[in-house]
Amino acid sequence: MAKRLGIIGTGYVGLVTGACFAEVGHHVICADNNAGKIAMLHAGGIPIYEPGLEELVRRNVAAGRLRFTQSTAEAVDGSEVIFIAVPTPPQPDGSVDLSFIEAVAREIAASLTGYRIIVDKSTVPVKTAEKVSETIRRYAKTKVDFDVVSNPEFLREGFAVDDLMKPDRIVIGTSGPRPVAAMKEIYAPFHAPVIVTDTSSAELIKHAANSFLALKISYINAVAAVCEAAGANVSEVAHGMGMDERIGRRFLNAGIGFGGSCFPKDLAAFIKISSQLGYDFRLLKEVQSINAEQMDRFVSKVRDALWVLRDKRIGVLGLAFKQNTDDVRQSPALELCRRLLGEGALLRVHDPRAMETARPVLPPGPAVEYVEAAQDVPVGCDALVIATEWPEFASLDWAKARRDMVAPLLFDGRNLLDRAAMESQGFIYRGVGR
Ligand code: NAD
Repeated sequence: MAKRLGIIGTGYVGLVTGACFAEVGHHVICADNNAGKIAMLHAGGIPIYEPGLEELVRRNVAAGRLRFTQSTAEAVDGSEVIFIAVPTPPQPDGSVDLSFIEAVAREIAASLTGYRIIVDKSTVPVKTAEKVSETIRRYAKTKVDFDVVSNPEFLREGFAVDDLMKPDRIVIGTSGPRPVAAMKEIYAPFHAPVIVTDTSSAELIKHAANSFLALKISYINAVAAVCEAAGANVSEVAHGMGMDERIGRRFLNAGIGFGGSCFPKDLAAFIKISSQLGYDFRLLKEVQSINAEQMDRFVSKVRDALWVLRDKRIGVLGLAFKQNTDDVRQSPALELCRRLLGEGALLRVHDPRAMETARPVLPPGPAVEYVEAAQDVPVGCDALVIATEWPEFASLDWAKARRDMVAPLLFDGRNLLDRAAMESQGFIYRGVGR
């Protein structure tokens, strides 16, 4: 049965979740306190790039199932179930800044007039649901009944619409039976397995899952270091490992390390939470240091080959933290750019989707030139680096790229290209672990 749903926070998670809920028939109101974002959505614009999202939003707005507002009160008033999807950014010590969640809890409390289910979709430390409940109870104007549910989101940017429409599982964490039926109804059209747990377990599922995925990446990056020393090929090792069903091939791609708005912060948060609870999660600390080393090793590789980086022109293909997204938050590609700039290199950069989002954090200037077409990046370069695994980079005219460069150095930070094919074009090819 269609439900009236409110989403507070209309970012990557909130907007895609709202659009997918509307697509399956629910009536959704998405709120955000960023006036510019709501004005853009009202004008038919989409603030982020996600494959399939624009069409989904247009269709559901036209059908009258999806609306936008700047007012949390309006979203709370008009909805049976309210999802919180605001940021939970990291603090310098690794702990999570919960001020956005706390602020929304107070705003919800101020608008509550009758029973509501409040669902935390943001990634939060264990026990946050309890804090949200306490806060709402403390700030509610009258004594109203409500339930708080933890319903972590597992979408991957770049595949968010698909992930939301076809989730592997839905986790519903709650301390009482009343909201379970409503949550199951909301998710019924997605035909996914539903796991009902207590709130703390649900909160931990998200942090434990993301930390495990980060661990898998650091593991293969460590294996890549051994492969390099042994003259083996990490792509073949990963393939052979991944065919074992107990392991699986995904997240076994060696490269310049993981980044993005989730893995580094969720890993740091999980380490911090564990330590606050009395457990020193040494394994995950090692995952962090292997990830940091991975960037050092790659920069060294570029430096060793070029000898001197100062005034060398380096083409960087990719700025987003991964393919299919315009998100550059904690992007290893940008970190690599900063490191190369720090050593005096001159950069020619390109990304199919993330040039606009990158410009404010990697400002164009004498040392950073934004190049509109990927094919033009190699012109005049001493070296080329693949920093994001956009598949279209593989189909550049590499013979032309070689002719356009002043020296033939190619650093494939994502193992996207075929070494033999690149060497036959005259490149000196350096991948990661192969
Ligand atoms: P985002 O920054 O893209 O979006 C958050 C939105 O919340 C912003 O538009 C912001 O303006 C809005 N906001 C902040 N305070 C508000 C308030 N008081 N009232 C109304 N709106 C407010 O963040 P995101 O990437 O969507 O992440 C949201 C949460 O989901 C985080 O906890 C994140 O860890 C988690 N998560 C993210 C992903 C992902 O891939 N991005 C995946 C799973 C989970």
